[in-house]
Parts: sequence; structure tokens; C-alpha cells
Amino acid sequence: MSIEQRANVGLPEASLTEFGSSLAVRNDLQRLLAELVPVPGALPIKKILIPEPMGVCAGVEMAIDSLNEVVERFPEREIIGYHGIVHNPYVTNRFQERGVEFVDDVDKAPSNSIIVLSPHGSSPEVIRKAKEHDRTVIDAVCPLVEKVHHEVVRMVKEGRIIIHIAHAGHDEALGVQGYVPKDKYHRIETLEELEEVKKQYGPDTQAAVVTQTTLAQGSWESIAEAAKEYWTDTWTAPRKDICYATDNRQSAVEQLVLNGGIETVLVVTSEQSSNGKALVRKAREAGAESFLIQNPQDINLIEDLIRGKKIGITAGASTPAQQVAEIISYLDPSEGIEFLSGKVEEQKFSLPRELRDLIKEDDARS
Ligand code: SF4
Repeated sequence: MSIEQRANVGLPEASLTEFGSSLAVRNDLQRLLAELVPVPGALPIKKILIPEPMGVCAGVEMAIDSLNEVVERFPEREIIGYHGIVHNPYVTNRFQERGVEFVDDVDKAPSNSIIVLSPHGSSPEVIRKAKEHDRTVIDAVCPLVEKVHHEVVRMVKEGRIIIHIAHAGHDEALGVQGYVPKDKYHRIETLEELEEVKKQYGPDTQAAVVTQTTLAQGSWESIAEAAKEYWTDTWTAPRKDICYATDNRQSAVEQLVLNGGIETVLVVTSEQSSNGKALVRKAREAGAESFLIQNPQDINLIEDLIRGKKIGITAGASTPAQQVAEIISYLDPSEGIEFLSGKVEEQKFSLPRELRDLIKEDDARS
């Protein structure tokens, strides 16, 4: 029976992110799973292991909460999300159902609308343009991405060239690029690309190496080392730019494969999510087969590979617990679901200052 033929009996409703810490995300997921009835025709498997931490991070939670707050408080205004707010159509679709429009070009946002910028960070030019035409701008940049913005601004002031290890075209890379003069910015992903940059500068050049916050572990270290070897005066962040959430989720999935005896890992995420794809890569490096799952239909493609098996399921930093539970409802594990204890995250980021000010004004009016 294909997934399309299985009627979804429905999940209990939950907000996209109800809580802050990873422990709370687990509680949220456990609560949803406790009420879950597998859909008729759910695929029989042996067992599901879920590593901790997994799913929504503090930066995504703050951005979703920001947009949610705007939708609830200002129903009379046109509300625009920039860059899908997070890299997950599951989340954007739900906001669209509530009237939010998404744009990739702030010029397309109507005059007098409220525009919420994404946690991936926006360039100063995008922020400036967004503020035109009486638009209200809420910049929901993640503080850990903002840290990289501050780093590059400081390093440019010191006269350094910026080597940014980041994925081409990623929203975060475009944001960081906007803080650096064109002739000082070099985005690379490989040692070969570094070689090309080296040809343009002598070894006495002052350099700084920064990275995208959501890179895969092991994908950037050798590039940073090679840069430092060539430019002896190279600055790197004392606390690496890869964020805690990216790091913790990758370490957890590695442990799941190495200690959980798991041969197949499903990663609930989207094709656009850099940290989600890094989880697939990590699980494979650890020795498991791993598949990116965006919706229940994707299970059809791997049905024969996982039928009757014990599998692992994790989720990217922009995947809410509800989406994971929805996928799990299409599986029927005879030995149930087990959570593997792991690192507990307690990060919580406050709402953007502009939004807190708007809320105060709104409260004062009512
Ligand atoms: S993945 Fe990391 S940098 Fe990106 S929003 Fe989450 S906490 Fe912030």
C-alpha cells in the first residue's frame, strides 16, 4: 500500500515550537507520539531510535515565534516573511495558510507591510531596502549568525581579507558577504578554491577565516588549516563559527550509528537545509545508510530498505516536532520508539528588539 493510500488519521495539534530547550523539544515530541495512532497501512518496522538533541534550534524557534507573534497581533497589516523565514516548506506552508506571503526580494514587499527577516541574516543593503516605503522591519537574525557579521566587520577594519567557508548561494553566505567590501571577500568550499585565492595574495597578507554556522563537521577544518599555513597572520574565531545546534545534532547522530547499532537513519529536513543535509552526511560517514525525508511520501521510496528493521530518525534544526511525529505516524514499530539520552541544550534567544518595541506599543494602545 502506498503512502497516498494510507489515510492520515490526524495528529494532535501542537504549535510549531512550543518550548526552548532540547529537553523540551523531546517532551513535545514524546507527547505527540504518546497520542499518535499509526495510520492504517503504516509500514511495519522493528524499532525507532531517536537521538538527542534533534529538531528545532533556538535561532529557528526565535524566528518562528517572531513571525507567529506578528501574525497574531497585527491581523490588519500585510505580513511578509523574507527567504521563507526558515529552510522548511512544512513551516512556510503553515504560515501561508495564515496569510503570510514570502518573498526573496524585499522590493516585492508591499508598502506599509511588516517584513520579518530570516534567522540566516540579511545584508545591510537588504535591511536598508526593506525599510523603504513605510515598511516595518523585524530582523530575526540568529545571534550566532550576527556574531559572524560582527567578526567580519572587525576583521575588515583591521585590513584583513575575508575567507568565508560557506555554500554558494546560501542565504547566510549572502548575508555575510554584504558586510564585506567586494574586493576583500572570498567565499570558498574546497581546498582547490583556496588555491585560487592564494594566487591573488602574497603570504604576508593579513587574512581572516570565518565559516557558515551550519557546515558539516570535518568539511572545513583542513581548509582553515591550509589558509593559516599560507597566511601566517590569519585570524580565526576563538569560538568556532559552527553553531552549537549544528555541532550537537551531528555528534548525536554519529553516536546513534556508532552506539545504537543503527544501519539506516532517516533525517527529517528539507532539500534547502544545510544543517539537515550535514546530518545525512554525518550518518553516512559513521557507516549507516541515510535518507533525507521531507514528507511521508518519501517513505515510499525506501519502503523495502526499512521494512522490518530497526532505524534511527533525527531532524534538522528547522524541523518542528510535529513534522517528525507526522512522518512517524506512517511507520509502525513493533518494538516501539526509544529516545537516546544526549546533550541537553538550554539556549533561548529573545525576540528581536524591534518586535519587543512593537509589542510594547501595541500593549500600551490596548
Ligand atoms: S542552526 Fe545555529 S546559527 Fe542557525 S539559526 Fe539555529 S542556532 Fe542559529
